[in-house]
Amino acid sequence: MMAYDENGVLREFEESDEVVICRHCKRMYHQHTVEQVPGFREVDNDICPYCKESNGRSGNVEFFNRVLTQEELDNMKK
Ligand SMILES: [Zn+2]
Repeated sequence: MMAYDENGVLREFEESDEVVICRHCKRMYHQHTVEQVPGFREVDNDICPYCKESNGRSGNVEFFNRVLTQEELDNMKK
């Protein structure tokens, strides 16, 4: 993702996609994280999309969690 940093400079912010397991309900969910813009950081919670419990928080990245699609689950079993 390209965005302006705190100095007004356009740069690439790190993003990642991964499948993580909830500590609370042990279900897998898809987690997309985006590095927060320095100067505009706020603490974001890593909320499980199934049980709505938090699996941690971060002031460095923002969490975009969602449930896995049936297709993604099927691909994982192979
Ligand atoms: Zn959960």
